Amino acid sequence: MVNSQKILEKILNARENRAQQRAQFLKQQFNTLSLSLNIPGYPKSNELISTFFLEVKNNLINYLQANRVELIYEKETLIVDEAGDFFIIPIAKNSKINVLELKILTENFESTQTLGRLIDVDIFNDLGVPISSGKKKLCYFCGKHAAISCMRNKRHTKEEIRNLIFNDLKKIQAISIKNKRINTLVAFASKAILYEISLSPKPGLVSFKDTGSHTDMHFFTFLNSAVALTPFFNKFCELGYAYTGKIEEILPKIRHIGIKAEQEMFKATGNVNTHKGIIFLFGISLFSIAKIISENNRFSDTTFKYLVIEISNGIVKNELELNSKKVATHGELMYKKYGKLGAGIRQEVAEGFPSVFKNALPFLDKNFKNHQKLNQEEIQEILQTTLLHIISLNNDSNILYRSNFEALTHVKKLAKNAIHSKKSYIELCNYCKENNISPGGSADLLSVSLLIHFVKNAQL
Ligand SMILES: [Zn+2]
Repeated sequence: MVNSQKILEKILNARENRAQQRAQFLKQQFNTLSLSLNIPGYPKSNELISTFFLEVKNNLINYLQANRVELIYEKETLIVDEAGDFFIIPIAKNSKINVLELKILTENFESTQTLGRLIDVDIFNDLGVPISSGKKKLCYFCGKHAAISCMRNKRHTKEEIRNLIFNDLKKIQAISIKNKRINTLVAFASKAILYEISLSPKPGLVSFKDTGSHTDMHFFTFLNSAVALTPFFNKFCELGYAYTGKIEEILPKIRHIGIKAEQEMFKATGNVNTHKGIIFLFGISLFSIAKIISENNRFSDTTFKYLVIEISNGIVKNELELNSKKVATHGELMYKKYGKLGAGIRQEVAEGFPSVFKNALPFLDKNFKNHQKLNQEEIQEILQTTLLHIISLNNDSNILYRSNFEALTHVKKLAKNAIHSKKSYIELCNYCKENNISPGGSADLLSVSLLIHFVKNAQL
């Protein structure tokens, strides 16, 4: 009893401090706007509540800015004490919106927010009188009666209301974290493919400067495709973030999204295959990254590699070997002719991206961390070296298909030399163009390397 009396005293003191804070603004003849949460019982704040409160506060400020409400930001006050989280700010004296209009605006804000019934935005005029629109807030717990009526009639216990509030807060915090992470991942995926296409010139590949060994596509074809793929990157991430089923059953689900993505790609490019390889690689990669982050709260190279290997378990055998009787696709043809060496991107995935992890990613991690501060030439140079590291290792089945094994060996050798020589880079570009060679698989792996690099360097 003594204890609860002490707590009550502390809460009342804290409330008194708030009243004094408001009184300071009244003295200066300001109308004020304040924000608090309806948390019954004690304690009235903790990390979960404060995180929610700050999000609501920022959202409220943005909302008021959007509605042209002028506030005096240099006088804003944020308090966390025994009475809970509290924010107060004076309203500019020449504000075109009167206090009643403002009250209605903020009621509209409350009613459209998730868990809006927890939120109290109060408006006091410059005489210290609270402004009311006459609307009564509904009870948080039952949503049937006015909050004040349930409180007076003690329809629910403090405990049951608090339990419901904390459960709801946990749920929306998890959703908010998930959305932020997925938005970031999707942005990284788009950035990776845009950086890849922007590297110019590239050996045999489409770039801003030329179309390499291609006649049916150019830089803008890739932009059309990149934009069309964004919603599908989101779908791959959503699938990974929520997936708790068996890993060996996931590939058809990733493919299902991938097929739809391909259809949109062909629509956007006028039937040109720009990013089919990327759809496959990013499908598996984004699924894996999202799953790892949702489970472990952070990304790890090793976990990623093992998960990719697990997902693609048997992919070479199942998809290329079994079909070898009715040879149809490029991949199947190359596999029949060259075995594992001709299995291309499937082999790369089956082994957990060796061409990415051996040299390309360590090089990026070392040199590209603060890429926002680099100039265009420096960015081009780093992307170029990363691509060369990949070409020098990757058994690109695009090269095997358009040429032969000797050409692949030669391209790998030229790429290795070009890592340290600008002259050799030009030689490599010329060789690819003259021999109609396009290391498209390596370009896709450059995008994968960039995606993983961005993820590793971000707070997700
Ligand atoms: Zn109620």
